[in-house]
This record gives sequence, C-alpha cells and structure tokens, in this order.
Amino acid sequence: MISKIKEHCGIVGIHNVPDAPRIVYETLKFLQHRGQESAGITFLDKDRLSTVKGLGLVEDALDPIILKSSNFSIGHVRYSTTGRGVIDEAQPLSDGKIALAFNGTIPNYINYNVRIDTEFIYEVLKNQEDIRQGIRKLVDVADGGYSLVVLTNKGELIGLRDPKGFRPLVLGKLGSGYIIASEDSAIRQLGGIVIRDVKPGEMIYIKNGSIESEIVARDEVHFCSFEYIYFSRADSIIDGVSVYRARVRLGEILAENHPAKADIVVPVPESSVPIALGFSRKSGIPLEYGLVRTSVSKRSFIMPSQDKRESIVEEKFGVVGEVVRNKKIILIDDSIVRGTTMKKLVKLIRENGASEIHVRIGSPMIRYPCYMGIDFPNKKELIANDKNEMEIAKSIGADSVEYLSIDEMIKAIGRQDLCHACFSGMYPLKHSYDFSKLSVSMKG
Ligand code: SF4
Repeated sequence: MISKIKEHCGIVGIHNVPDAPRIVYETLKFLQHRGQESAGITFLDKDRLSTVKGLGLVEDALDPIILKSSNFSIGHVRYSTTGRGVIDEAQPLSDGKIALAFNGTIPNYINYNVRIDTEFIYEVLKNQEDIRQGIRKLVDVADGGYSLVVLTNKGELIGLRDPKGFRPLVLGKLGSGYIIASEDSAIRQLGGIVIRDVKPGEMIYIKNGSIESEIVARDEVHFCSFEYIYFSRADSIIDGVSVYRARVRLGEILAENHPAKADIVVPVPESSVPIALGFSRKSGIPLEYGLVRTSVSKRSFIMPSQDKRESIVEEKFGVVGEVVRNKKIILIDDSIVRGTTMKKLVKLIRENGASEIHVRIGSPMIRYPCYMGIDFPNKKELIANDKNEMEIAKSIGADSVEYLSIDEMIKAIGRQDLCHACFSGMYPLKHSYDFSKLSVSMKG
C-alpha cells in the first residue's frame, strides 16, 4: 500500500558558515509555522553527512547539544495528517553522501517503485557523478510542486524551485557564506541579508563559496495562492509581494464586496489579523480582539486526527466576553477547510453573549484537495465540497457566511500567475491523475 506523503514543510540549507547546524536549528524554529510534526538536521561531519531527527516541535524533536560543529548543514520541519510512522518519513533523507529536504508534493511518484515522493527524488539523485545532472533529470521527470535543498558530502549545497514555482524559496547571505530557506523572514530574523527569491525552474549551486545559477526548465508560473492567504509568515515577501499587504487587501476587498451590518470586526488569530484589519479599515467598523489565542499554538487543520483537532480548538482559543456580549460580530478567518474550528468558535462566541455572528472568509471556498504541497483533506471532508454559503452558515451555526471569489482573491494578492486549484479544481500539472485513487492510496 502506498503511504500517504502529502506534505507542507519548511526547509533551510547553509553553506560555509561556522556552526551551521546550530544556525539551521534556529532557522527551523523561525519556520516552525510550516510544519510541527517532525524536525531534522543533516550536517557535514568530516566527509560524511550525519542526520538527527525527531517528532514534534523543533525544541522537542532535536537536542542542539548533539549537533556537531560544521560549516555545512540542511534542515527540515514537516507535518503530515496520518500521524503514524512519521519518524520514518521525517527529513532530511540521507545516505551519508547526499541529503535532501523537500517541501511539496510530486504526485507522479506513484508511477515508480518507491513508497513516498521524497524517496522518488532521492532515487533520481543518488549515484549521479554530478549532482547538477541529477537535478536536471529530476526536473525532467517530476510533476508537481516542490522546492528543495540538497547537501552533498563534498560540501555542495543545491537549492531548486520547480518550474511552475508553486513553493517559495529564497537565497541569502549569512556571514561568510550562504543560506537558502523557505521564507525570507527567517533569513532576516537570523541577521542574514536576503539576496533574492530563487526563480521558478532555477537551480542554485553553491560550492567552495561560489554560486552558480541555472534555469533548468521554464514553464508557466502558478504560485500557490494559499501561501499568501495562510501559510507563510505575514512578515515574508514572496516574489516581490508582501504577505502582510496581500492579507490586508484580501480584507479590504472582502469589506467592499461582502459587507455585513455589525458592531465589531473580530479576527480569528493569528493569520487572519491583517485580513480583519483590512476589513475594519475599509468598512469603518472597529476591530476588536474578541478572541485570544492561548499558549497551545498548534494549527488545527494540520493536526493528524479529528479528535485531536477538536480538543485543540477548545484549548487554543479564549473568548473575551466583555468584547462580544450583546454585539453583532463580523468574524474574520483566512479560510475554512473542514469547518471544525469555525463551528466551535461560533458556538463559543454565542455562549459568550454575541447577538449575531457573520462569518467572512478571506479566500474562496476550498472545494478540492491540493496535490502540490499543502495537506488538505480529501474532497469529502471539505465543508465547501457539497455546500453553498447558506448551507455552510447553517452547518456552522452562523447568521451568514460569505467568501471571496477567485477573481477577488487574485486582485487582492496582485499577481495573475497564481495556482487556485483547491478553489477551482483546475490543476496546473503536466499530466492528469486519478486524484480520487491517489487520495485513497495516500490515506492507506
Ligand atoms: S491547490 Fe491550493 S493549496 Fe495547492 S498549490 Fe494550488 S493554491 Fe496552493
């Protein structure tokens, strides 16, 4: 049975910087929002690559004391939804000669004799005399959305973004060497200098302190719109577009085209705060923090089981009764996946005395799974799969629910070259797949 492999992850690679494994460790903490189920670090130890991995948040999964001194290292944070066997699938994947850390999904791995897509990449890259040749071959045969970093036991660091550029990847300078990471905000937080985004289809090859760039393949770009809506950090800038600004614009357009009469605008913290700010500014309805996030910070849709997701919702939000009592509320969130979180929140806010709750969502309706790197559940579990806005409102107990349209989202983010397959069902892949079969296999 094919194991489930859809992933969304954070990756980092460091070349020629003293204490690289410890810096990778710090960077993984800055990328923790991209994956919370496992973490791993590979570093060059004499002429072999050593790898340490563990389950959970970076600080629980890895003990920095066991990281040796090295100038070359890569790291990975990951989530999955099965919640089983994740340590086997934790990354980096390494045989001591090459190590890879991968963010994305390559659905055509099922045509090859491998368990997971990380193994598919590894099989293509291993035994290549020149790692660059392996990368060219990989781009030729892989279909999907992926960014990756590879480290070899010769100290070569490679960064690659797939030709359609679904996932972000950024090149930076760090002290005497270089860093490649999923998001620029992590590089800046380390005190590094952001050089630029890796381009779609570009391989960055760093050896002995010098950088080569090669466009391995060109294609039409389809950057993941969900990176702007939810996944990336608000202080990141992706391909020249500020995530924060995009989120504020999502809120402004939501207020313009999907208004509601209310006393206050309340964001579901944290990622929807800029969307709520945009809504509040545009509508003139005051923004209030009616919900607070408690110290349990795991993101509910990336929790592996329904039970865990529901208990996390209860634990992670508190309602400020003073704010919501006897008020008509516009409750803003970035998206609704299964509806688990939103249903619970609406109930909690009503119990605290709100008179009306109008839910406004800063993205279109998620109707389809993603096969390019974000781990949405299968179609049947998505609340918008078979319901319209009125039916969703009824299902979650809200007075009304409205979403952005795909065109409104594109206008808000301000770039045309976006993937919107989870909203539209139009998958911009090279080949078509029997996704229902793939999904069942992945669940197995
Ligand atoms: S399907 Fe949705 S989540 Fe997946 S890459 Fe496209 S926009 Fe992103």
